[in-house]
Amino acid sequence: MHFENSLDFARNLDKEDKLAKYRNEFIFPKVNGKDVIYFVGNSLGLQPKSAKKFVDEVMKDWAELAVEGHFYAEKSWWDYHERFSAKLAKIVGADASEVTVMNTLTVNLHLLMVSFYRPSGKRYKIICEEKAFPSDQYMISSQVRFHGYDPADAIVEIKKREGENNFRTEDVIAKINEVGEECALVLIGGVNYYTGQVFDMEAITKAGHAVGAFVGWDLAHAAGNIELKLSEWNVDFAAWCSYKYMNSGPGNASGCFINKKYHNKTDIPRFEGWWGHNKERRFLMEPEFQPQPNADAWQISNAPILAMAPYLASLEMFDEVGMPALIEKRNKIVAYLEFVLHEIDKEVDSTFEIITPAEQIQRGTQLSVFLHGEGKELFRYLMENGVITDWREPNVIRLAPVPFYCSFEDMYQFGQILKEGILNKELA
Ligand SMILES: *Cc1c(COP(=O)(O)O)cnc(C)c1O
Repeated sequence: MHFENSLDFARNLDKEDKLAKYRNEFIFPKVNGKDVIYFVGNSLGLQPKSAKKFVDEVMKDWAELAVEGHFYAEKSWWDYHERFSAKLAKIVGADASEVTVMNTLTVNLHLLMVSFYRPSGKRYKIICEEKAFPSDQYMISSQVRFHGYDPADAIVEIKKREGENNFRTEDVIAKINEVGEECALVLIGGVNYYTGQVFDMEAITKAGHAVGAFVGWDLAHAAGNIELKLSEWNVDFAAWCSYKYMNSGPGNASGCFINKKYHNKTDIPRFEGWWGHNKERRFLMEPEFQPQPNADAWQISNAPILAMAPYLASLEMFDEVGMPALIEKRNKIVAYLEFVLHEIDKEVDSTFEIITPAEQIQRGTQLSVFLHGEGKELFRYLMENGVITDWREPNVIRLAPVPFYCSFEDMYQFGQILKEGILNKELA
């Protein structure tokens, strides 16, 4: 693709952008009276303007109908979560029956491990990636200890090769084969939160199954970001949070995928509650648990409707736009950001090293940039000048130009502010 690092060129790209109008559907924080350039939708997505309407609707139903809202609200509460399944299923590549919304991400991974981490005899090890997101490390370690094993023995980490920034699929598969029949579970983040690397989920899932292990994915950085085909890849289970690329609001509910081959298994262990019970008989208060014939069987409590309302608002937008259009723009805007970074790099003394893989298939929206020779002052300069990025030790900024609301002009302006920040420091 031919790119130029100029305002005109960036504005032309915005003119050609079919999704440009969606920028106006989100609320941007302001710095110095101007909308910020928001690169942290991989951490907390912006608020869709429609979210408030969805929340107000629940507040109104609660005020006017009180308990009757469970059945008589226009979006009744007793089955509120069911409104998510079909829309989410499209985003993650699943059947609607395989998807449900409940709890929060780490909680759901724990609950899914009740079903899918069942160590016994020789088979008790979990394979995960080194330096996994901290919550995942704590979760896996505590699960292993809960079952009476030593994390140092039961957790096997896949490592990057010396001097390389990313994992190699062949190394992941080799490790799975090496652990072989001792492997109970493979559980990896589908998109690495630090580098933005996308794992080959299909190949890894197949390799895990070949040694008789279950394979699950933490899709926190994948859902709403990359193309997923969870059913086709035959993934056993997955979960994701909704407040990153899915713009549902801070700490909001998590989505879960449970492969349909487990839905009617009577011998699968699961922590159960009344919201997983046969919905036709839920209110008969019978003593015997009858699971729903789908992923909803994993539901435990009645749904937090007020929290979930903005998630539903956001999903309507995803449904309207669809992942293919988001991915098409994503590829272009990420490539443009990469180009701008390289151009600015030529004009200043620092060296930017993009540690995210260069191949499109191995990356999504995020570029992680190692800023050699720069410090946290640069990050602060960016913040003060309306560019919101995030900083990770030792020297990495993560940039996610979310296709829903970031513009090509944002990329150009960011490049200019970055350059000023570096040159100003040299003058100071
Ligand atoms: C963001 C993120 C989480 C967050 O977990 P919560 O339970 O929602 O707080 C967990 N794992 C990964 C990989 C993440 O990126």
